[in-house]
Parts: sequence; C-alpha cells; structure tokens
Amino acid sequence: MKAQPGVVYLVGAGPGDPGLITARGLELLRTCDVVLYDRLVSHQLLAEARSDAELVFVGKKPGEAHSRQVVSDALLVARARENKSVVRLKGGDPFVFGRGAEEALLLRDGSIPFEVVPGVSSAIAAPAYAGIPVTHRGLSSSFVVLTAREEGAVEPDAAALTLGAETVVLLMGVSALESTTRRLIEAGRSPDEPAATIEWATTGRQRVVVADLSSIAERAAAEGLSPPATTVIGSVVALRSQLSWFEDRPLLGRSVAVTRPAAQAKALVGALAALGADVVELPLIAIAEPSSHEDLDRAIKSLAGYDLVLFSSANVVERFFSRMDALGVDARAFGAARVGAVGDRTAHALAHRGIRADLVPATFTGESLAAAIGDGSGSVLLPRVEGAPGEPRAAIAARGWSIDEVAVYANVPGEPPADAVERVRAGDVDIITFTSASTVRNFSTLVGRPESLERMPAVVCIGPATAAAAGAEGLEVAAVAEPHDTDGLVAAVVAIVTGAAEGGTM
Ligand code: SAH
Repeated sequence: MKAQPGVVYLVGAGPGDPGLITARGLELLRTCDVVLYDRLVSHQLLAEARSDAELVFVGKKPGEAHSRQVVSDALLVARARENKSVVRLKGGDPFVFGRGAEEALLLRDGSIPFEVVPGVSSAIAAPAYAGIPVTHRGLSSSFVVLTAREEGAVEPDAAALTLGAETVVLLMGVSALESTTRRLIEAGRSPDEPAATIEWATTGRQRVVVADLSSIAERAAAEGLSPPATTVIGSVVALRSQLSWFEDRPLLGRSVAVTRPAAQAKALVGALAALGADVVELPLIAIAEPSSHEDLDRAIKSLAGYDLVLFSSANVVERFFSRMDALGVDARAFGAARVGAVGDRTAHALAHRGIRADLVPATFTGESLAAAIGDGSGSVLLPRVEGAPGEPRAAIAARGWSIDEVAVYANVPGEPPADAVERVRAGDVDIITFTSASTVRNFSTLVGRPESLERMPAVVCIGPATAAAAGAEGLEVAAVAEPHDTDGLVAAVVAIVTGAAEGGTM
C-alpha cells in the first residue's frame, strides 16, 4: 500500500547496497511526500523517491560534533502534521542502534501514527558479505551485537556480557576498536580468536581485514579502514577462507564514474554495481524541454501522414510518448506509418508503448540507417535531441526520402553532486565513462581540465563520436565500447580492469 498522508514510516534502508531495502520500504520510498535520510543512505535509493518529493538530509556529517536529531525530530512532527506522508530512512535496521525507537516514542507522544519497516542490519549483513555467518552449527549458536559510546569503548559490563556468546559483532568506528578489543580480552575473551573488520560492507568500496582479536585494531588502522565499519569476532571468521563470495567480483574496489543524466543512468549504474564497482554518479548533462514544442506538436498531430517514424534512442521514445500523452493522443495516432527503432533497447522501449518496430537498424550511423531504410521518396519523421549532428539525416536524404527532424528534448549541463566532483578532482576515481559528446564537453567546465586533477581517471567512451569528442578535449581514450551500448561499455570497463590485473597500467 502506498504511503498514507499524515503517517511517519521509520524505514530501514539496509546496510548500503540499494538492493537490500525491503519491498515494503521501497514502495513507501517511491510514494511518500517527504524523505528524511541519514548519511549512509545511498544516492541510488534516494533516486527512487518521487521527483517532487522533499528530500532532507538529517544525519551527522563526519567531523560534526552533534547529530541533527533535534532538527530531524522537529521536521518529522511538522511534516506529519501538515498531513504529508513521511519516510524516515535509516541505515540498516531502524531499531538496531538507529535511534528509531526514540523517534517512535516522540511520534507516540505527539499522537502521530507511525509504522516501522525493519531493515537488513549491518550487524548481520556486513559479516555475510565478507563470507562470515554469525552462527554456524558446531561453531557458534549465539551472537551478541555491541556498540561503543560515541568515540569511546564499550562499557566493562558489556565486555563481560560477550563471554556468554560465541560470536561478537561490534558496530562502531575503527577509532573505538583498540580500547574495545582490549576490554574484551581483559574480560576474558581469548586474544587469539579470529576477527574481521569490514569497511563499507555490501558496497563497491567493501574492504575486509582479518587478524586475531589482539591485533585487529592495529591491522585495521594500518590498512586505513575508516567508518562505516563492522567487526566480527569468533571462530566463525575462519569460514571466510571458504565462503568469501562478494569480493570475487571483477570490479570490486574500482570506482567508476557514470556521466549520464540520472534518469537514464539506472541500467549502467546497476550493471557496474552488480560487478562490484563503486559507482560514482556524476551527471554531466541533464535533460530539459526543447526550446519550442511547436514542430514536435505539429508532427505528432500529423503522425499518420508520415511513411516512417524513426526513433534513435529509448530516451527519445520516452520523451516523444510523454508529449503524446500531454496532447491526449495514443499509439493509434501512428496510423499506417511504419515505425523504426535504432538498436534493441529502443525497440524495447517502443514495445513497452505497444508498438512493434518494423525495422531495427543496429546503429545510428549513416551507413547502417541507409541500409535498413533503403531508397524511397516518402516522408520520414526523425524525433531527436535538439542540435543533434546531421549525419543520419544526410544519409537518409541521400536515398531520396524527405525528412522532418523535430527536437523532443534538449541537453543542458548537469548538476553533479559536489562530493562526486571532489572525488574525481582528488584522483579518487579509477575510470570514467562517457556516453555522448556533450558529457565529454561538459567535463572540463563542470569538473576541470585533466591536467588540473590529481589524477585523470581512465576514459571509456560509448562510441566513436564520443571518443572523437574526447580526443578534441585533450582526453586520452583508454577504450571504446563494442558494441556501442550499455553492455559494450560495461565490457570495456571490465576489460580495462582485468587487463590491468595482468600487468597493465591501472
Ligand atoms: N541501524 C544500523 C546501525 C547504526 S549504527 C544497522 O542496523 O545496520 C552505525 C554503525 O553501523 C556503523 O558505525 C558501522 O559499525 C555499522 N555500519 C553501517 N553501515 C555499514 C556498512 N556499510 N559497512 C560496515 N558497517 C556498517
């Protein structure tokens, strides 16, 4: 059921991987009016919220002494009283060291209805993603989860408590680890027990350090592990040598920037993340309305008069059909006009709108189009992005057709988040993918000239036109996707990384 007005939902976002939110949590996130979120909640999850939803960051930023709990509490109450549906999105599970219950009590005091949607807690998920079960027959039949006070160690009483459990999970920063592990040993746990600290569990930044209890804090610090990190202690840690699974992915530990507009980046982001990449979303272009709808509207009203309507991308299909929706016409408006789609993804998008493409040229190059369309003297409608290059048009015109090209959207410079821009500037991104000439051209303006960065990421381009634009901007192109689509792009990224593993330059 959709998020209801006046109700506050305390929703667990899961530990990091956006796929680990519950189905219920996702439904509420997609339908609510307001989202209040913590620092560790992924950008990809927030992108699921309605485009007109109010998104408010209420977490504690690193280095900030106090959380914004007071602000958060006040907003929760205020928005619910305004009869908005509110999702309070919290890392992991809201009731596991998440202060979710404090918020629930506050809502109860204010007679504001609330629901709790549990989440996958990092206490269990972080070990699981490191190949460590918190229980295992014969090794451990109990586990205890502890946290430290802010910046401090666990209380001595809590340390003693761990003696009653076989597995211990510590949810706390690496800085508290040294004093905490010492307390556990003083309380009687063996200094030789195996332990593992898992940083950024379930994300492309996951790193794991294994040592014995007496040295895990030192090792984690030496490896530079920083929050968020979870530590698991006990004989189950030994199973990791056989059960480690997440870290086998080819792109794990590699950061890859995606420069597509957010709304179109989903497939690429998902595919890279599934291979273990730490995906940095850096939208360098955004989609906007064309400067005028006049030509487009006229074309839509006389659709059936064309012999062929040719769609060049799934995005063009989406924009074209939403304009049709706005004008109150549906797929019947095509009449007997034939419909073409460049590439399978475009054909798929058309099929989604109830139209089976009559012809599917593989690429949007003059040659491929001319071959698919052949000679003729009728009229072709070519809906495009504003200011698109003229080669396809020229190639079709050369075969005798008359062509109407109309703009369905315009590309404008994107607004990449400041932290993503900073990561690229600081040399903290390994690979950058460019999916159009405009993404390349906006790179220097929005991020910087390659020579001004600490380190320029390796450049992967979707096709020859994008690669040529990169060359013109002075960027060295490491690889061009083959085929020139999302799958080809992902394959090119993997090839660069695995090539590097065999002694390349990365
Ligand atoms: N409610 C959360 C826990 C909040 S306390 C839950 O159920 O997961 C915050 C602590 O959770 C961090 O200090 C860290 O120990 C742990 N944590 C959260 N996300 C993590 C992640 N991706 N990897 C490792 N530990 C994580």
